[in-house]
Amino acid sequence: MAFGHTAAAPQDLLRKLHVEITTRCNLDCSMCQRHVWDEPNADMAPETFDTIVHAFAEFPGGKTLQLGGFGEPLSHPQIVDFVRAAAEAGLGAEIVTNGALLSRELGMALIGAGLQKLVLSVGCSEEIVEQSVPNLRRLHRSALGTDGRWPEVALHAVLKRSNVPTLRKLRSLAMVVHAGTISVSHLLPYSREMAAEALYGARLPAAGTSPQAEGNPWRPHVMLPALEWSGEEARAVGALLAGQPEITLGRTRVDMGTSACPFVMEGRAAIDWRGNLAPCLPLLRTHPVVTPRRSRTVKQWHVGNVCESSLRELWSRPEYVAFRERVREFAFPPCPNCGDCELVVTNEADCYGNPFPTCGDCLYGRGLVRCP
Ligand code: SF4
Ligand code: SF4
Ligand code: SF4
Repeated sequence: MAFGHTAAAPQDLLRKLHVEITTRCNLDCSMCQRHVWDEPNADMAPETFDTIVHAFAEFPGGKTLQLGGFGEPLSHPQIVDFVRAAAEAGLGAEIVTNGALLSRELGMALIGAGLQKLVLSVGCSEEIVEQSVPNLRRLHRSALGTDGRWPEVALHAVLKRSNVPTLRKLRSLAMVVHAGTISVSHLLPYSREMAAEALYGARLPAAGTSPQAEGNPWRPHVMLPALEWSGEEARAVGALLAGQPEITLGRTRVDMGTSACPFVMEGRAAIDWRGNLAPCLPLLRTHPVVTPRRSRTVKQWHVGNVCESSLRELWSRPEYVAFRERVREFAFPPCPNCGDCELVVTNEADCYGNPFPTCGDCLYGRGLVRCP
C-alpha cells in the first residue's frame, strides 16, 4: 500500500473532476500558487460549467465534481447555481473553501442546493481559522434548526513550520465543525522562502522493499505495536522511524517509499476556469517547485479544452490513455531519492526515456503532497 493514497481504481474510469470555477480569492496567502502565475484572476463562464456538468454526467458509475483548484469557489457569483446544477445532474457536489465567506445565508443556500461535502481548508493562517470556524458552527446550528440536512465535512491542513499551532488544534476543530475527516498535506513550495517552511526534505524514505521481502540491515523493516501516540511514546518511535520507508504498525504494513499518483489511480482529472483539461491539478499550469533539495519547473500539459472537444473524446485521446497507463504502472525513475541531473530540472524527460510529462519527481506521486 502506498502511504497517503486510497486503493487503486479497478478500472480506467473518470470518477472525480476538480473544477476551478474561479481564480479570484478573498485571501492572499503567501503559499498560494497564484503568486507565480502571470495571468489575470477570472471566473468560469456559466456555459463552460454547464458543458462540463452535462458531459461528466454521461460517464458511467458514481461521480464527484469538486469545486476547488486555485481560487476561492465561494467568490464565484453563481456558486449556488453551480452546486444545484451538479447535484441535479446526479454528481456528488463538493466545495473546497477557506470558509471566510461562508455566511449563514450562503451556507444554507448551498446545503439547499444539494451540497454533499464541504472541505474546510485551514492551511492559510490562524486569523482565517478564527473566522471560518465560527462561520461553520453558526451554519451547523441553522441547518439543525431547519430540516437537519448537513453535508459531510472534512478539514484540510498543511504541515509547515508556521502552521504547527493550528495543527495542534485540529482534533478540537474537527469536533467544533462536525468534521469526520482530517486530511494533512506537506507544503508544496514555489520559492526558497516557502521551502524554508517545509517540514520534509532531509531524510526522504527511499523506495521500499518488495511486499515479500523483510528489508535489509541498512533499511530494516520496523515492526511496531499499536500506539497511543502519547508525547513520550511518539518521540521514542519517531527517532526509530526517521527516513524509514517500510513499517508495520499494529497489524498493518505501511510503505512510504512507493510512488503512486492519487489523481490517476483514483480516476481524477482537473479543469481550469477556461475549460482546459489536465490529468491533475499540478499539470494545469507551469510553475516552479523549490524543495529543500532542488528547484525545478513543472510544465503544464493540457489534454484539450472542453469548450472545443467533448469530455468523452478528450478522456479517450490515445496520448492521454497512454499517459494514464504509464502513471498507473508508475514506470518513472525514483528522482526524489537520486542526485541531481540535467533532466530533472523540468518534467519534460527522464533517464528512463519517458516522454513529456514525466512524473518521477512529483511530490503528489511521492505521497508528500495531497489534495483534499
Ligand atoms: S485561500 Fe487558497 S486560493 Fe486563496 S490565497 Fe489562500 S491558497 Fe490561494
Ligand atoms: S531523471 Fe535524473 S534525477 Fe531522476 S532518477 Fe534519473 S538521473 Fe536521477
Ligand atoms: S504523478 Fe504528479 S504530475 Fe503525474 S499525473 Fe500524478 S499528480 Fe500529475
